[in-house]
Amino acid sequence: MTSDEIRRKYLEFFEKRGHKIIPPAPLVLANDPTTLFTSSGMQPLVPFLSGETHPSGFKRLADSQPSLRLEDIDEVGDNRHTTFFEMLGNWSLGDYFKKEQLSWFYEFLTTELGLDKNRLWVSVFSAESGSAVGGEGKTNVPSDTESLAIWKGLGIPENRICFYGVKKNWWSRSGEPKNMPEGEIGGPDSEVFYEFPEVKHDLKYGKTCHPNCDCGRFLEIGNSVFIQYQKQADGSLKELPQKNVDFGGGLERLAAASNNVPDIFQTDLFSPVINKLEKISAKNYSKDSLASRQMRIICDHLKACLMIANEGVFPSNKTQGYVLRRMLRRILMAAKKLGLNVTGFPFEEILFEIAVIYKDVFPELIDNAKDISLVFSGEAGRFEKSLNLGIKELEKAKTIDAKTAFYVFESFGLPYEVVEEIAKDKGVEISKKEFDSEMEKHQRLSKGGAERIFRGGLADQSYEVTKYHTATHLLHQALRQVLAKSVRQEGSNITAERLRFDFNWNEKLTPEQLKQVQDLVNSVIDRNLPVVCEVMDKDQALKSGALGFFREKYQDRVKVYTITDPSTSSGPPFSREICGGPHVGMTGELGRFKIIKQEAVAKGIRRIKAILEK
Ligand code: ATP
Ligand code: MG
Repeated sequence: MTSDEIRRKYLEFFEKRGHKIIPPAPLVLANDPTTLFTSSGMQPLVPFLSGETHPSGFKRLADSQPSLRLEDIDEVGDNRHTTFFEMLGNWSLGDYFKKEQLSWFYEFLTTELGLDKNRLWVSVFSAESGSAVGGEGKTNVPSDTESLAIWKGLGIPENRICFYGVKKNWWSRSGEPKNMPEGEIGGPDSEVFYEFPEVKHDLKYGKTCHPNCDCGRFLEIGNSVFIQYQKQADGSLKELPQKNVDFGGGLERLAAASNNVPDIFQTDLFSPVINKLEKISAKNYSKDSLASRQMRIICDHLKACLMIANEGVFPSNKTQGYVLRRMLRRILMAAKKLGLNVTGFPFEEILFEIAVIYKDVFPELIDNAKDISLVFSGEAGRFEKSLNLGIKELEKAKTIDAKTAFYVFESFGLPYEVVEEIAKDKGVEISKKEFDSEMEKHQRLSKGGAERIFRGGLADQSYEVTKYHTATHLLHQALRQVLAKSVRQEGSNITAERLRFDFNWNEKLTPEQLKQVQDLVNSVIDRNLPVVCEVMDKDQALKSGALGFFREKYQDRVKVYTITDPSTSSGPPFSREICGGPHVGMTGELGRFKIIKQEAVAKGIRRIKAILEK
């Protein structure tokens, strides 16, 4: 069965069972300063799982969500992990619960995909998991006996039902129950695995094999999370009146299972690319395990880079652009290991292959691939030059140690492994540990912590960032009042330390104008006005004067944040913008607003940097 068919069947299956098929969120959430990329189907839906009504009015939702997980980047190279993947998802917002969820997924797997039910294994949350694998300790939450009974009722024999504890089969935003703050919601989950008996267990993964073993014999194809508890002030967990289901299953892995291959890279979502790589490297994917690892990395990263670039991201030193740059460099290093000549960027055709694979989901890729390839090729050329400079620098150095390695990494992008190689030729050994600690030191020093962000896929999630987000709306409106109504946001970047705002304006702002803008923002802060969030139809929002951005693709229903003075609420609001949030509740929370810099960034575009003082 093709992957396109599986995606379609899944959505149809859940649509028939009363679900609204919702459009997936973009990978890069333009108005969310807290994360770099969407990494699961649940992520854009958190407000609705926390009790907000979904704009569609439905309590049953389903979609296929393109997801990017940088935290899995070191896993890429095995049979089942990629950074970019599609997560098929379905949700119940206080509607159906365990019985329907588990039965439907089982039905989908066995009747729609035709999986062999004798190869399905499941896991269930056990509070006493010490007796199961891992000895993870006890919690005060009861074991999930309901899911256990449902699986048995569906015919899964007891020897294929495994019990795991809080580390594996519990979900909340803060992790296991003891870490959950008061008010947080969470609950047990139940995973489904498909077994490939032909994959022999490798002892390097432990004495015995089990569904959560990493050897590759078991493929996790779906996870049903049951959000049923809320943490109380006394530390206990109380049953929620409204219980939710959050399900996610990887399309790539479902495709592997339904086609009976234990390797997602041998499904139609990857195989055209692997075939091309075999051709240009003259190496055999299934016979050469070193080559296959590099091919998997190149294949995944090229796809991820294409998807990121398709959303308008360019290689740079910041946030998403930095991720793109680092992934492109990893592609080039892997390509060199594979023996490819990377001068002239040999991957244009492969980018087209990927565009064709995804023609149903991202039809615009076919048109965009050429331009994106040019950008990648330019970036690759610059990296190649920088690498050569770095290598020259190293050759000049009298000694090579961890500090030198870090210096050439930071200044020329020379990866650690390359330095290690060159050092080896000179008969010196360098310590990876010391290199890592240099890196850590640097991360603490560097403002954006770009490397930390790269690893975690997370920007700063703090309350400070939320405050700057609200301050950005105030600044936007103040500029429109002081300068002209035609002022529009052209870009925005927020950290926990400052905001940066780009807008269309030709001249340098006079000191008086700057002061007026700053005073206006502070007067709104002083009046301590409420920041109100409403969900409405997109057209209604735009008609009501909410600011939106033409470049953004909005869903039919959108969130609108309004700041109005209640004592003068008959007039127009101070500020009204379509925005994903989050924002503070009252403007008084912001502190003192201070503009610290203005500059020109491009023709007709000015930039303001501002801070909030306590
Ligand atoms: P794993 O333990 O295999 O890394 P996970 O527990 O991190 O999976 P979830 O967060 O529960 O996975 O995500 C739901 C589903 O998404 C998984 O059951 C799997 O099918 C798929 N999935 C998760 N991570 C990846 C990945 N890096 N590449 C491909 N599919 C993935
Ligand atoms: Mg994982």
